[in-house]
Amino acid sequence: MPATQTSSRLVGELVKIFGESSVMSSPSSLEDYRRDMADYEGMPVVVIKPASEAEVVRLVQFATKNRVPIVPRGAGSSLTGAAVLEGAIVLDMRKMSKILKVDLVNWYVQVQPGISLDDLNVELKKKGFFFPPDPASSYICTVGGAIAEGSGGMRCVKYGTMKDWVISVRVVLPNGEVARFGEPLAKNRAGYDLLHLMVGSEGTLGIITEAHLKIIPLPAETIRRLLTTFSEWEAVSNTINDLRTSRIMPNLFEFLDRESIAALNQKLEQNHEEAEATLLLDIEEQLLEKVVAILRSHGAGKITIARDEEEAEKMYQLRAMVYLAVKSLASGVQVEDVAVPLDRLGEYFKLVKSVAAKYGLKIPVNGHAGDGNVHPNILYDRDDPASRTKAMAAYEEICRFAIGVGGSVTGEHGIGIQKMKFLREQLVSHEGKEALRLMKEIKKIFDPEGIMNPGKYVEGA
Ligand SMILES: Cc1cc2nc3c(=O)[nH]c(=O)nc-3n(C[C@H](O)[C@H](O)[C@H](O)COP(=O)(O)OP(=O)(O)OC[C@H]3O[C@@H](n4cnc5c(N)ncnc54)[C@H](O)[C@@H]3O)c2cc1C
Repeated sequence: MPATQTSSRLVGELVKIFGESSVMSSPSSLEDYRRDMADYEGMPVVVIKPASEAEVVRLVQFATKNRVPIVPRGAGSSLTGAAVLEGAIVLDMRKMSKILKVDLVNWYVQVQPGISLDDLNVELKKKGFFFPPDPASSYICTVGGAIAEGSGGMRCVKYGTMKDWVISVRVVLPNGEVARFGEPLAKNRAGYDLLHLMVGSEGTLGIITEAHLKIIPLPAETIRRLLTTFSEWEAVSNTINDLRTSRIMPNLFEFLDRESIAALNQKLEQNHEEAEATLLLDIEEQLLEKVVAILRSHGAGKITIARDEEEAEKMYQLRAMVYLAVKSLASGVQVEDVAVPLDRLGEYFKLVKSVAAKYGLKIPVNGHAGDGNVHPNILYDRDDPASRTKAMAAYEEICRFAIGVGGSVTGEHGIGIQKMKFLREQLVSHEGKEALRLMKEIKKIFDPEGIMNPGKYVEGA
């Protein structure tokens, strides 16, 4: 049967099951689901917005029967092609966005997967609590997407990433069964840790329909936010080394280079100093004096300490907006996400500069310096094959450098379709060949029919 007839048959049957209002198939509505936020593309055949776990189960059964791949999707803000697939049924999970329970004794929240991290934190703040992981996309990204990506964020230097905060998930498996992995307990070591298989599973093992997340009280101590500049990148890695050997853990430690600040100035029509390096830090007030002294000893320029929450939020927005600002500088961007051991960060900075010079590319750099997870954004011209080839060569050098120094090709953005070959390279060169074999077997056990976001991630490595 021709593809168009097959897709209209599928759509017709889905409308019968879910009703017109939950099924989107017009070219204009599908267009919104065609790309992720790094412009990886794949046109779905239809998009469903399930309102309940029971609907997700029915959809999975339907997809299995009809042998059509499924891609669960939150906000589509991921950056590696994980959330897009040509010809797939996409499940937009954002209708399932309720907070089901906030438990102030056991310190957890029970949520549906479609709520955004910011909306969750707005509610928690009213009760004096918060959920720490905060990707710079927290204003849109969903709990389900952040779990499935194993996301990090700005506060992760102190609090860790999603894997440290998820204690239980309910999942619709590819065979249509519903499973709970983990339990909402402070301590629990019953059985293999299937919960953490779901964290970072990139929509390839099942669909998360509910989660229990740990929460903690808002910090009792006053946190001060500051912005400072340096005339060279080396000072940034030296500052980190010094803070760590002084046993100081900032609550946030973010880096922006000159090109990133220039892009922000242009995008936001602001006028920040375009210094070689800008640092954004959150520090406990009692440590402020000591930290300022360390910054000065490494040649910090002006140090601006936010006077109030409003000013602190403006500083935060610089870092939150920077990807969109640099993305608007070119038709193509390869956003890099390698993570290196902190004591190799200085070398990594030098490598990025030398790669940019070698290929004649603009590579604005920003990110989570305090985690050794700084993002070079490799800009290129999508319509110029030579420019694209250079960008890919630069990206490969950066990944191979990270593998070579014992780092990872992804600190938080994941693999998707972007980094399948480098997942293999990293695991093979870091004694993980057997681990990769087991991962591939695990995918087959969970998804023998190959309907969940197929051909990507572990399967493609
Ligand atoms: C401006 C910007 C800043 C960013 N900053 C950061 C950052 O600081 N740290 C960071 O880690 N990432 C960052 N990201 C990447 C991205 O925002 C995160 O990975 C985010 O957590 C993805 O959430 P989402 O809801 O958009 O997921 P999507 O992009 O919709 O999906 C991501 C993956 O999760 C799967 N998925 C989605 N929902 C479910 C579900 N319910 N069940 C099972 N699988 C599911 C999808 O199939 C896909 O594989 C940034 C992106 C942008 C655009």
